Amino acid sequence: MEKMEKDFDVFEEFGSNVFNDYTMRQRLPKDVYKKLKQTIENGKELDPDIAGVVAHEMKEWAIEKGATHYTHWFQPMTGVTAEKHDAFINPTADGRVIMEFSGKELIKGEPDASSFPSGGLRATFEARGYTAWDATSPAFVKKTPSGCTLCIPTAFCSYTGEALDKKTPLLRSMEALDKQAMRIVRLFGNKTAKKVTTSVGPEQEYFIVDKKKYLQRKDLVYTGRTLFGGMPPKGQELDDHYFGVIKERIASYMKELNEECWKLGISAKTQHNEVAPAQHELAPIYASNNVATDHNQLIMEMMKKVADRHGLTCLLHEKPFEGINGSGKHNNWSMVTDEGVNLLEPGKTPHENIQFLLILTAILRAVDLHADLLRLSAASAGNDHRLGANEAPPAIISVYLGEQLEDVLEQLADTGEATHSIQGEKLDSGVNTLPDFQKDATDRNRTSPFAFTGNKFEFRMLGSTASIANPNIILNTIVADVLCEFADELEKAENFDMAVHDLIKKYITKHRRIVFNGNGYSDEWVKEAERRGLPNLRTTVDAIPSLVTEKSIKMFERHGVLSAVELESRAEIKYEEYAKVINIEALSTSNIAKKQILPAVMKYEADLASGANEIKAAGVEPSVLLAQIKDIDEQLVLLKNGIVALDEIIAKAAALEGDVKKQARFYCDEVIPAMDAVREPADKLEFLVDKKAWPFPSYGDLLFGV
Ligand code: ADP
Ligand code: MG
Repeated sequence: MEKMEKDFDVFEEFGSNVFNDYTMRQRLPKDVYKKLKQTIENGKELDPDIAGVVAHEMKEWAIEKGATHYTHWFQPMTGVTAEKHDAFINPTADGRVIMEFSGKELIKGEPDASSFPSGGLRATFEARGYTAWDATSPAFVKKTPSGCTLCIPTAFCSYTGEALDKKTPLLRSMEALDKQAMRIVRLFGNKTAKKVTTSVGPEQEYFIVDKKKYLQRKDLVYTGRTLFGGMPPKGQELDDHYFGVIKERIASYMKELNEECWKLGISAKTQHNEVAPAQHELAPIYASNNVATDHNQLIMEMMKKVADRHGLTCLLHEKPFEGINGSGKHNNWSMVTDEGVNLLEPGKTPHENIQFLLILTAILRAVDLHADLLRLSAASAGNDHRLGANEAPPAIISVYLGEQLEDVLEQLADTGEATHSIQGEKLDSGVNTLPDFQKDATDRNRTSPFAFTGNKFEFRMLGSTASIANPNIILNTIVADVLCEFADELEKAENFDMAVHDLIKKYITKHRRIVFNGNGYSDEWVKEAERRGLPNLRTTVDAIPSLVTEKSIKMFERHGVLSAVELESRAEIKYEEYAKVINIEALSTSNIAKKQILPAVMKYEADLASGANEIKAAGVEPSVLLAQIKDIDEQLVLLKNGIVALDEIIAKAAALEGDVKKQARFYCDEVIPAMDAVREPADKLEFLVDKKAWPFPSYGDLLFGV
């Protein structure tokens, strides 16, 4: 039979651009491979002697793939990845070159990267920063039509060893969790497991618009979101886009995106249309926390790159359009031993699974004690548009457990004893020809920021743009901290069973206030949460201080994840970043209003006026025209005044330079409302003038234009 022609052979291509375990085993001498594996799997320090051999093979492999350059790929505090390319070439005495890559070059880099945000950690005059090879995330080649580069995942630290990136504390937090979770696992009699890692599967939402139209929207180009624009007659109200049939042009984009991901060893698995028009989602299969974080960065990069090749633009901003849903990222998180046991797997009868109940109790305690930090981990100027709006969980942290676990906890809290677990029933569809099947014991909840979903927690507050490093650093550390507290107590207990029992009962009773199974989007919940004393940190600026409370500093230092100095610098960077983002938005608002909207509307109004005069000359009263001119002029005055006021406020904000905290607060409280005051009349004007007179594509053009 003739072989069906395939344009993409997934068996051949999956991971083909990755120096993965398979390739390493094939290419590295046995003893070198073994030693490297020890570093990767057991966190053993890398033997410097083997680095040269690994580097050589890595280079040979990369050159076969077409690479001419290598880069230490890192994740500075900007939230995006950074790379500085060096060619492999080394000149020889006879005027030619050889391709070289040493062990030293693999292990350590020194990007002259003084312009990355460091929050005061690194003055420009002492700008040394080092990148160090992170062997736990595989190297890969990035191929583009313009070249091919070997990328080496690295951590980025200052001369004095402070973390300047997101990877370093992430790796530290994973080690902290490993250490504490292992103590618990041992206490429950497991003598063979060697390691506990966190698994993460991030679901990524995004918008796709036509590139030509995108380029005509200066607001999208400068800020990633629309600063102007009224909703077209149709939005998302019919729910006809969600899970709808994927359009051809989008489908071919998704196909290529999947292929690019697969080549990079990213197991892109699920894709569908999301709630809003032009909105989509991609979810890979979960991976180790560190690799998942790197992969998510690559997915976002690929989403943009591939879109470009299709004449499309991918918008990753949390709120590209007012009036319809924004984009988030769901961080599915669990803890797994190296023997493959998921510590968050309750089993069929969770009430009997004491280890699970203890870990669950620890997570509830961690989330309740550090709700402020979790909230902060999802905070950004972009995400402020979502959290609390009617589409994303509120800014209040609560935990959804579902009926079954909630019931077990209730039994434990009430009587100290849990004797049964609610079981899933048969699902009866009422149609004989359809198979009956067993339902899950628990339904899902789509409005909870932190939901238990069977064998993992889903942290649903994250914004679509942000690195998933921050929330996982915090999640890993707060859980490690409580597990440590529990292990301290249990290790010295005389009667282990009794001590576990008491611990669970005590803390479940204490932290039940964090459990909420109802509708997290409702106003009643906001009131109820306040009654329960749960924090509601509405904006990024409200949330940042939680990073540097005494409680936070002590905890991060206890586990060696972040020092007081590092935390201070991170808070500073957050304020700075927030102020900069809003400043760019404010300047763009003013600029677009002044240079595009105002002139276009004034011209249109003048045209109407001359039309009115002509009609009058013909002896007819131009009543409709005059009424229209009046409406337009009313808004035009508001627009003009709004622009003047905004410019004044922007100047005031700039004058606060030097005090980042005060400045960020000012942007939040004063500049944003001033921007809104410009947008409001502008959006009204869009519907008062001829479409042809409007200076850029409308929401309708963008959302329904692919
Ligand atoms: P949904 O929440 O939309 O139902 P899925 O159940 O398909 O989605 O899972 C969403 C994400 O969670 C996927 O990336 C999946 O790989 C990941 N996931 C599944 N199990 C785990 C786990 N034990 N730990 C971490 N992530 C997981
Ligand atoms: Mg989900």
